[in-house]
Amino acid sequence: MANTAPDTLMPPVQPEPVRSDPVRNEGQWSKNLEYWKDDGSIVLRAESTLFKVHRSQFEHLSTALRGLLTIPPSTTGILEGTEKWPLYMPDTTEAMLTDVLSFLYHSAFNTPSTDPANEQKYLNILAFADRWEITPARKYAIYALEHLEPPLRAARRLELARIHTILLWVRPAVEDLMQLPLSFLDPPELMSFGGVILRRLLRAYEFRTLELERTAQLVPQLSKWDEQEYGCPKERHQRCIDAWDRVWWEQVGRPLLHPHRLLRPSGIVAHVEGLVRDPEISPICYADALQAVRNSDWAEGRVVAQVIEHIKEDIRGMSMKQYDENDL
Ligand SMILES: [Zn+2]
Repeated sequence: MANTAPDTLMPPVQPEPVRSDPVRNEGQWSKNLEYWKDDGSIVLRAESTLFKVHRSQFEHLSTALRGLLTIPPSTTGILEGTEKWPLYMPDTTEAMLTDVLSFLYHSAFNTPSTDPANEQKYLNILAFADRWEITPARKYAIYALEHLEPPLRAARRLELARIHTILLWVRPAVEDLMQLPLSFLDPPELMSFGGVILRRLLRAYEFRTLELERTAQLVPQLSKWDEQEYGCPKERHQRCIDAWDRVWWEQVGRPLLHPHRLLRPSGIVAHVEGLVRDPEISPICYADALQAVRNSDWAEGRVVAQVIEHIKEDIRGMSMKQYDENDL
């Protein structure tokens, strides 16, 4: 297809805005008093509420919005946007338009609030920004959602990443999710991922569970037990083996299997290197044990990285819009 070829200058094909025929104002709608600007130049309708605002605030935001504001429906020729013929905003709730106007008139150049009570407001701005391709509003809303305090839960971030194609959120959300067992997620959170992403996560969880159990039980083996020149006589070496088995289980196996994931495979090497040598293990055998740990290989990190890339591909495939990952 022409619009996927890398060397083409054709813009991606956008769906035409849905234009319904104008409806005359017979007093059936109420005015939003906060956004009824006496010197406003356009009257908009979202659901059954009218807003009188400044056309210039909107027109420059995006090509899609400028088209809606300036092109009359072909069947009637009436140019909407007056109190008599308000311009109907498709796919826009009253709350959404109120929040977008609050952004345009008050917030655009301010740091957004971190109060979690504002989550829905930022989601409204994000949905409007997606619908009308308004990049600054999208960036503002995503930034605001990222900085809520307390932060959004990982499951919610992954759900929003899917709904709004926020590819940058996928990696941290999945990595956070993989910190805890599946049983820490509520059924509604599991459902929020959608079937495709949920299946990928379930496979990653299953793989990780198997690897954790195997790692916890499989002690990296000491190798030099019968070599006298290393200084660990055969007659005392069994104590090294017993002590190393115990250290591995208590310091590594148990934290790995702990429900709160006190330790992850990626952290085992640094963790073991930070332990104080158990005096029952001879120095030479302890050095040998550390080397055996360093030589071990855990696949969890690679599996999670692969799942993250797959989920990004899924989200790209489901999205109508082509957002660049690094540019939101
Ligand atoms: Zn030994």
